[in-house]
Amino acid sequence: MHASKIALYHDLIEHLRSIVGRRDRNSLNQALVLTVGSIFGAAQTTLLRIVHHCGTNYAIPCVVRSADAETFRDVYLAAPQDGYPLDSREDYATCCRAGAPMSIERDEIGIHLFPLEHRDEVHALLELQRDRPLDANEMHLMEDLLGLFLDHLALIDYAESDTLTGLLNRKTFDENLSRMLAHAGNDAVGEASQDRRHLKPGDVSNWLAMVDIDHFKRINDEHGHIIGDEVLLLIAQAMRRAFRFNDQLFRFGGEEFVSVLQLTDRDDARHVLERFRKHIEASVFPIVGRVTISIGFTRVDELDTPTELVGRADQALYFAKRNGRNRVECYEDLVASGQYVVAHPARPAVELF
Ligand code: GH3
Ligand code: MG
Ligand code: MG
Repeated sequence: MHASKIALYHDLIEHLRSIVGRRDRNSLNQALVLTVGSIFGAAQTTLLRIVHHCGTNYAIPCVVRSADAETFRDVYLAAPQDGYPLDSREDYATCCRAGAPMSIERDEIGIHLFPLEHRDEVHALLELQRDRPLDANEMHLMEDLLGLFLDHLALIDYAESDTLTGLLNRKTFDENLSRMLAHAGNDAVGEASQDRRHLKPGDVSNWLAMVDIDHFKRINDEHGHIIGDEVLLLIAQAMRRAFRFNDQLFRFGGEEFVSVLQLTDRDDARHVLERFRKHIEASVFPIVGRVTISIGFTRVDELDTPTELVGRADQALYFAKRNGRNRVECYEDLVASGQYVVAHPARPAVELF
């Protein structure tokens, strides 16, 4: 084989290894952008996540790479205000609608857009800035590369998700929590916690909520495990609809779920959680009929250890259980009102199973 051909294959295999070697979305996104930029000689390569929030679609840049710089945004923590409403970006909106690659000129620069689809929905766009158009062979190569990227993303999805509910699994929760804590700043000062928290003015609050189905054992006992599983699935689906796109939803354990609510103050958090509790209370589940849930929530502090954070939500949840179930309780409110005394945790902070 000719030496130059071997060098080419070698390069290509190195690029492919850099993609299939990734184990999380963030570094996979970075590997794709790096590979595409280098193979196609792009002046700038951008990967944008497309998200739906409150009736509007947004394009949020997650990795932007030019020859000498890379900007990176954690894909798990991206918020709508970090991106562009699609209404304001005709180029992105058209590519998403068409679901097909397109090339345009913007400020005399050639722009190539590629939609990335999952279950017939465009969930990301790849934008390539290059002065000359991509030829047919390059288009094929790009198609193959994006195919490989999507196949690998599906594997990562599978590893991060719970098979029954499709929510993120416990392992992903444990892995993500430290990173979420590092990013979580809070502003509103809670009276009960003022003394122990270092708050950054101007930042927003983040909340961790633990949701537990009431008397779930009875549902299993009366109707069997299959019907119990159906209830878990329906509640997980309701959670997806009830919370905003970037609120991370996890199946924490058997019939317990965790949600990290971003960018809300305490009243917002309580409002969203109460609305969800009422929605479940009002729903009629097939065969089972009525099901209720209890929720404990607490404010996320960047100084928290995962055990402290989960422990506080768990204590608020336990309070809700002891006080009639079908309730939402906030740890900080319970402490402030004297209903909960910090020195005596009601039960171990984290359930092990
Ligand atoms: P409480 O109101 O205090 O939360 O009572 P509970 O019955 O919901 O709580 P308990 O912890 O006593 O029981 C939880 C039950 O959840 C026991 C277990 O059999 C069931 N469970 C856990 N994982 C699964 C699952 O994947 N599928 C089904 N069907 N049941 C599950
Ligand atoms: Mg439980
Ligand atoms: Mg329960």
